[in-house]
Amino acid sequence: MAETNEHGHKWTMIVDLDKCNGCNACVVACHAENNVPIASEEEVIRGRGNHWIRIERYWEGEYPDVQARFIPVFCQQCGSAPCEPVCPTYASYHSTEQNLNVQVYNRCVGTRYCGNNCPYKVRFFNWWTPEWDSPLNEQLNPDVTVRSAGVMEKCTFCIQRIRRAENDATADGRELRDGDVQPACAQACPSRALVFGDLYDPESQVSERLPAERQFKLLENLGTEPAVYYLKGEDTHVGE
Ligand code: SF4
Ligand code: SF4
Repeated sequence: MAETNEHGHKWTMIVDLDKCNGCNACVVACHAENNVPIASEEEVIRGRGNHWIRIERYWEGEYPDVQARFIPVFCQQCGSAPCEPVCPTYASYHSTEQNLNVQVYNRCVGTRYCGNNCPYKVRFFNWWTPEWDSPLNEQLNPDVTVRSAGVMEKCTFCIQRIRRAENDATADGRELRDGDVQPACAQACPSRALVFGDLYDPESQVSERLPAERQFKLLENLGTEPAVYYLKGEDTHVGE
């Protein structure tokens, strides 16, 4: 379903629920790539944990025929994002070039209006200045800002990888190719449940796979226009 726009990209994620086994490799990869702080047990109990991806777990059927189902949930990069108009400092804004919801950390004054207005609950507030015990402090990604206390954060579709791929393509004198950009979650997924690409590129994997009979979007009825497509088979009822 290639759409067209000669000025930019429409970055899109497909999540195949029939392939996801709930292993959480995507969650761990996201923490490592994006310098996502690790909350203490006490903070988690207070509802202050921080994961840019969460794996929701559902049970289908009656014992003993019970089937576990999993839905990875992260920022849906909404085309009409409820988190944007409530931000008084334009820290949460829409990039028309990338078709992404962007968070400018040094504009954020910590009102948390955006978090309250996000129906997917995928924005996280930094209640404390993050610290990494040695040797974890030595594996921080230098391409990603470490967010300070009082700042809201969320999934960016690994925009640092998008930027790097764009710069590499420019240096090589060519256009971006499908597969040049792989967010850390999609790269780490052992079952290839996550497929990422540009919906404006007719040759991309996401364009070839969409539309699909199995597709649906989370809370689509709210009019948020998510950029994340979920796929599920007939016997998978999560998301209904
Ligand atoms: S999922 Fe939430 S944080 Fe992401 S763009 Fe939509 S409203 Fe904003
Ligand atoms: S890494 Fe893949 S299979 Fe594992 S939880 Fe994430 S999406 Fe599911």
